[in-house]
Amino acid sequence: MDNTIYQITLPTPYAVGDVHCYVLKDDPITMFDAGVDTDESWDAMVHQLDEIGLKPNDIQQIVLTHHHPDHTGLIHRFENVNAVYGHRMTDLWLKQDESYFAHYESYFSTLYDQFAVPEQYRNVPKTIQNAFRFQGKRQLTNIIDEGQEIPGLKNWHIIETKGHAQSHLSFLNEKDHTMVAGDHLLKHISSNPILEAPLPGNERPKPLLHYRRTLKKLQSFSIETVLPGHGDIFNFQSKLIDHRLQRQEERAQKVLNYVREHEVTPFEVCQFLFPKHYNKQFGLTMSETIGQLDYLEEAGYVGSITRNGVLMYKATPLYS
Ligand SMILES: [Zn+2]
Repeated sequence: MDNTIYQITLPTPYAVGDVHCYVLKDDPITMFDAGVDTDESWDAMVHQLDEIGLKPNDIQQIVLTHHHPDHTGLIHRFENVNAVYGHRMTDLWLKQDESYFAHYESYFSTLYDQFAVPEQYRNVPKTIQNAFRFQGKRQLTNIIDEGQEIPGLKNWHIIETKGHAQSHLSFLNEKDHTMVAGDHLLKHISSNPILEAPLPGNERPKPLLHYRRTLKKLQSFSIETVLPGHGDIFNFQSKLIDHRLQRQEERAQKVLNYVREHEVTPFEVCQFLFPKHYNKQFGLTMSETIGQLDYLEEAGYVGSITRNGVLMYKATPLYS
């Protein structure tokens, strides 16, 4: 075993393009993430494993950064994998947990009433079914979280990095300072903070606030090389985090200027912020919109009240 980590690049049917997995040739042989469940992706996997002297049956365990289908897709195709590790929210997706998804759909139905979302943009059940179609078809063997160790991965530290997904974890090698970052930190683009239903009985997640917190959190670790889920491998720089945060604050300022002029619903803010994209990418654009409103509300720039069941946002007196 040479203890080297290898990048595997697989095609996806998504706009994001290729996705990367990483194979750690150690004992046990470990794979981080597992592409999307298509034959094209599997063929590319088999071919690239061959190039590094491995067969699919050599892979012994898989560690997942988050539940998205382009990261879990092939987990059931490795016959000798006896352990699959991931967050408890990843477990619910892979299990297609009936009670969670019944809750998920009714939660969004109520939420979209509050956001004043017209019927034609509501496609949550379809989005869930699409995810099921391309995600992995087996369950986790072990649920992991920050502070725990993964068997066989001695020098690896689990960092909770929710924001892009509530299930998101990153993995930092404390010896060589390499981080498997999933979709938490990419070189060229900011990750989408995606709104998901909470576990039943919990408050609505605030994905952009989580994302800001877990981005800043990375600045307290010693990280050198970032192995991302998409795009180029790059050297970690603290100023990249500052840059991402600053860009987000600029977008929030744009929202604040709009909200200063009128009292508005979240759907109206979404149309304003993404006039060209909101109807084709509704889930993503609405997630980003509510994220900006959460940010402005937490910072005290805007407030919300409920009128006839709909959330209305306006600038607080100090900022109007
Ligand atoms: Zn993702």
